[in-house]
Amino acid sequence: MKEEAERRRLSVSHLIRSILEDTFQLVDDVVSDFDKVVSDSMDLARNVRRNAAKLAAPSPPAQDIASGWDQGLSDIYGWSELVLQRGAQCRRCTAQIERGSTAFLGLTDKTRRGRVWLCASCIQAL
Ligand SMILES: [Zn+2]
Repeated sequence: MKEEAERRRLSVSHLIRSILEDTFQLVDDVVSDFDKVVSDSMDLARNVRRNAAKLAAPSPPAQDIASGWDQGLSDIYGWSELVLQRGAQCRRCTAQIERGSTAFLGLTDKTRRGRVWLCASCIQAL
C-alpha cells in the first residue's frame, strides 16, 4: 500500500480514499444497472401479459365504446334487422332495446364473438 502510494505520489490515506471512492462508484453502477435490468424485465412481463389478455379476450365492447364505438367492428360484414324476442343492449349508445322493438344484429364469421346489437337510431350513424 505504501509503495503504491509512493508510486502514485499520494499519501496512503489519499490512496485509500481514492480506492474506496472507485469501489463505491463501481458498486453503485452495478446496482443501478441491475435495477434497470429488473425494471426492464418487469415491463416486458407486463407487456406480454397485457398482449396475451388482449388476444384471449373474445370481444372488448367496453373499451370500444370509450375509444370510438365502431372500432372493433371490422369483422362485422352486415346488419340484420330483427324484432327482438329478448331485450338487448345497443353497442353504441348502450340503451336497453326492449322486447318487441326493432334492433340490428351484427353478422360476423367469428364464432367466438358475442352478439353485437345496434338500436334503430344508432344504425343511422354507420
Ligand atoms: Zn343506440
